[in-house]
Amino acid sequence: MTAVIPIVADGGCADAPVLHQRGQREVFCGLTGIVWLHRKVQDAFFLVVGSRTCAHLLQSAAGVMIFAEPRFGTAIIDERDLAGLADAQDELDRVVARLLERRPDIRLLFLVGSCPSEVIKLDLSRAAERLSMQHQPRVRVLSYSGSGIETTFTQGEDACLAALVPQLPAEAATAAPSLMVAGTLPDIVEDQFARLFATMGIADVRFLPARRSGGMPAVGPKTRLLLAQPFLADTTKALQSRGAQLIAAPYPFGAEGTTRWLQAAAQALGVDPARVRAAIEAPRERAVQALARQRALLQGRRLFFFPDSQLELPLARFCARELGMVPVEVGTPYLHRHLMSEELALLPAGTRISEGQDVERQLDRCRADAPDLVVCGLGLANPLEAEGITTKWSIELVFSPIHGYEQAADLAALFARPLDRRTRLAA
Ligand code: SF4
Repeated sequence: MTAVIPIVADGGCADAPVLHQRGQREVFCGLTGIVWLHRKVQDAFFLVVGSRTCAHLLQSAAGVMIFAEPRFGTAIIDERDLAGLADAQDELDRVVARLLERRPDIRLLFLVGSCPSEVIKLDLSRAAERLSMQHQPRVRVLSYSGSGIETTFTQGEDACLAALVPQLPAEAATAAPSLMVAGTLPDIVEDQFARLFATMGIADVRFLPARRSGGMPAVGPKTRLLLAQPFLADTTKALQSRGAQLIAAPYPFGAEGTTRWLQAAAQALGVDPARVRAAIEAPRERAVQALARQRALLQGRRLFFFPDSQLELPLARFCARELGMVPVEVGTPYLHRHLMSEELALLPAGTRISEGQDVERQLDRCRADAPDLVVCGLGLANPLEAEGITTKWSIELVFSPIHGYEQAADLAALFARPLDRRTRLAA
């Protein structure tokens, strides 16, 4: 049995002990990432090679209109494939040929692996190479795994972007230092950041993924890499192996997080701090004022995070420092210290940090802590609500625009709403 870590006295959580859990988990699989990825890259298509369960998960998660031409679909592995009666590679070639014939708008095709495709050991990377040869130059075919075996749902995006990295153009040898922001952001948030960077004097900023497959950013030793999402461990490694230099920064959630994130980028690119201050002053002030209203509602409320989205540490830091909330336990599926060092240092000392999951034990700790609000996956939310514990679905925090100054108050409102609803129900 793993003992509960004692509370530490001071100095943030940079060196705080971590409660490692290796038991039963309650998480969604990486296919979920397709829901936001397909909206971002407008000439890409995500073809899941999976079962009817995978198709249902995607349909219900994305809430697709039946009239739309969706940018994702599922090639169903049926009994004949599972029994080895059909050559699954041949079947896949036929499905892809039909799809590309019907959809001339597709320029980038992702074959997305699932639990069933991994169980029958269908080699999708080989299929992607073969299909790329067949359909180039019109369509590039890549593959990654969205399987739910030992993963969590945001790893789907990480695997997708990591698959893109070897395909990125090489930066010119004479290139000046440039900024790459990695992690899918809604277009409106990306535009806000691009404007802020331009006002700060950083005009050469590129986003990964780009909105079109032909516009993916170049990478090389002059690339300064700024992560917009904290769950990109494999993508970061792949970009670093191509020379990119990671900028250490907290993540752009809340007024403080966004300010530190922008300042870290500016420092890495040698921008005058006075120019940065002038560029961010007005939007930062608006965010601080909007947050003050939410802080009045949330101050002192105790918060418990179950591990799910990998956003838990930055969100806990935001809730603690900008809303006055008290995170009692912050669970994360994985703790990548090199991506989280800035966040850990900003978390209040005494916060219990756990990595991985042993769901029954964590539920016991949660009940004993009796927090005001629990952030957790859908599977845990209903049972906890039935016990009278107020919950927030962590997946909603991933689906909503929450980065940057303009979204800071909306992010706070996502935490305030369930508490408000509970108060009204009680009344
Ligand atoms: S990939 Fe696995 S976990 Fe995800 S929907 Fe398909 S079968 Fe379920």
